[in-house]
Amino acid sequence: MQITGITQHHLTHQLDGAFEPTWIPGYPQGVHELELFEVETDAGITGITASPSFAGGLDYADALSVFLAGEDPHDVEGILRKLDAVDLVGPRPWHVELALWDIIGKDAGKPVYELLGAAAEPIPVYASTGEAQPADERLPYVETRIEEGFEAVKLRVESPGDIETVRGVREAFPELTLMVDANKGWSVRVAREEERWSFADALGFARGLEEVGDVAWLEEPLPRHDYRGYARLRKKTDVPIAGGEFNDGPHQFREFVQQESLDVLQPDAALATGIKRGTEVAAMADLHGLEFVPHTWTNGVGFAANLHVMAAADSAWCEYPFEPPWTPAVRDFLLTDTIEHDGGYIEPPSGPGLGIEIDRSVLDEG
Ligand SMILES: [Mg+2]
Repeated sequence: MQITGITQHHLTHQLDGAFEPTWIPGYPQGVHELELFEVETDAGITGITASPSFAGGLDYADALSVFLAGEDPHDVEGILRKLDAVDLVGPRPWHVELALWDIIGKDAGKPVYELLGAAAEPIPVYASTGEAQPADERLPYVETRIEEGFEAVKLRVESPGDIETVRGVREAFPELTLMVDANKGWSVRVAREEERWSFADALGFARGLEEVGDVAWLEEPLPRHDYRGYARLRKKTDVPIAGGEFNDGPHQFREFVQQESLDVLQPDAALATGIKRGTEVAAMADLHGLEFVPHTWTNGVGFAANLHVMAAADSAWCEYPFEPPWTPAVRDFLLTDTIEHDGGYIEPPSGPGLGIEIDRSVLDEG
């Protein structure tokens, strides 16, 4: 089998309103943008992948074709070596690799998780918020999620003073598992810069979380390449420290492991590792007694890919992005079917390949 060509579609989907993600400080997001790629083969099988997009995105299907045309999509390792320099022309390579697994799975008639040697065990989902809201605004959201079956919620915080938000939610819901994301690892700085935390801010916040109790992790309180800072912080607090969603490639996760920086590794298959390297990072985490809980906040294709990796890695939690008007239907607007949780648990799609289908009608609108 040979790859014959690549087609790219820039897709946009209007939200029913807007929300203010902490990772794009000061910017109300009212549209979901992505780049969808169809990787075609001479066997008539097409693999899909998608990457997040912003401000109109980049066109690079022609450049990708130079890397991929004529290659056998089953040769994931060989193609990854070729893609190693794809950032010469713009994008990180990781999302491209998802399409190979989609093709391989469709060719074999098996879902990707089976190719990775996994069974489809239900994974508990946690509701991942997007805005830093004070506790009184956040409480109705939490209550609704609990009614829907969620056993954990991840709160967003911006300032050290937002420890009050976490305290307020904990007081109202003493049994709920909480995650807390400071989003200081990276950000999209188009409207304003994020509020950086000093090491002392991060440590003070972690100490506050120790008092709150039952906090599964504190995520990205420091810049994503501050491996030493994370290691220092981790030594000084009992709260597990998480990160890595936007680190680039397995070698950066090796750095987190070698420097003993993190308790929870969060590589996103679509952003940070691809599927094969994701499972390698998961194996590294397991060998070192660390948790592996990928970031998933991209789009329906990235979400599905991460579900297959999570199934293979036996992840303790699945991030389920949910901050209306950013809903699962908005996340998956390009798919024929929204990937839903069932009473707080989720399984990877069971169809061949990634197990998802593109809603062709959105291609005309895009
Ligand atoms: Mg995060």
